[in-house]
Amino acid sequence: MSARIRRMAGTARSASIGRLAALAMPVCMVAIALAGCGSTSDRALRVSLSALEAKAPPAPASSASKAANATCGDPTASLRPRGPLPAPGHMPSGTFMRTIQDRGRLVVGVDQNTLLLGYLNPFNGQIEGFDIDMLRQLATAIFGDPNAIEFKAISSAQRIPVIRNQSVDIVADAMTINCERAEQVSFTTVYYEAGQRIMVPSNSPVRGIGDLAGRKVCATVGSTSIENIRKLVPRAIPYPVPLRTDCLVALQEGKVDAISTDDAILYGFQAQDPYTKIVGPRFSNEPYGMAINKRHPEFVRFVNAVLERVRGDGTWASIYEKWLGRVTHAPAPAPPRPHYRD
Ligand code: GLU
Repeated sequence: MSARIRRMAGTARSASIGRLAALAMPVCMVAIALAGCGSTSDRALRVSLSALEAKAPPAPASSASKAANATCGDPTASLRPRGPLPAPGHMPSGTFMRTIQDRGRLVVGVDQNTLLLGYLNPFNGQIEGFDIDMLRQLATAIFGDPNAIEFKAISSAQRIPVIRNQSVDIVADAMTINCERAEQVSFTTVYYEAGQRIMVPSNSPVRGIGDLAGRKVCATVGSTSIENIRKLVPRAIPYPVPLRTDCLVALQEGKVDAISTDDAILYGFQAQDPYTKIVGPRFSNEPYGMAINKRHPEFVRFVNAVLERVRGDGTWASIYEKWLGRVTHAPAPAPPRPHYRD
């Protein structure tokens, strides 16, 4: 197996040494391609930035305006599984699962900078985390092989475009289900419930959302986090960045006063930088779903069946404990209850 790791020019950033914990490395965007992978590791781990150039087909004419205040009932209500799961390696013909099986690998859009959720571990070259383990469950259900995955690293703003232009089969990337997004992609049932909070340097006087007026608050472009800050704290100064860890660097460099995003993401930042603290209660609900192209309702039902199994047989709890339990030091909560619409 040969490995090629490339740092993209202009994206590598260093943060003040001493402020960084030993593992706070991927504050740069890294492209890794493991070509010709052998059987001992992921059969086809290829993280590419090609998706960065991906262009989505135009949204239906009316959707942009509708999206602004879209209401859709319960956006977390997804398609109910039908019948028992087919055996791995025996996906029914004519289904999208069969297309994936015949291709030999599941192609997924993930983040590679979010410690605990989707993170390129510099010591083993593997992308790992809660979101990644969920995808490995899916690969196991299709192929009987958790490693039959091709990873494409994407930014928050690319999650919908890469689904709509079909450059990935599925996105699992701390993605909040909401009506605006559900107009453009299909979502699975909720597999994690996060909520937005605030992170500041440990010596900051900020104690919660009420102290953010006049302060610079970082969040990623294309995230619910930046929209929530704009809506809920109109007097805060939003500081949008392309990648989540750009916010950690901006905080470390003193360019912003706070980061505000999902607690699940902030836990990873806190593990990367002990000179930070998370303050105030949650002020939003961020139910995570995996996104799938609207052309493949049978795949949504299939993934929901896999999630049913993962929730019910203790796998969800052990994946939670492996990643988020490390930082919350709490036993796994009950997995989110699925909602179905048919
Ligand atoms: N759950 C948030 C969202 O879907 C994640 C925030 C981010 O991507 O930085 O937008």
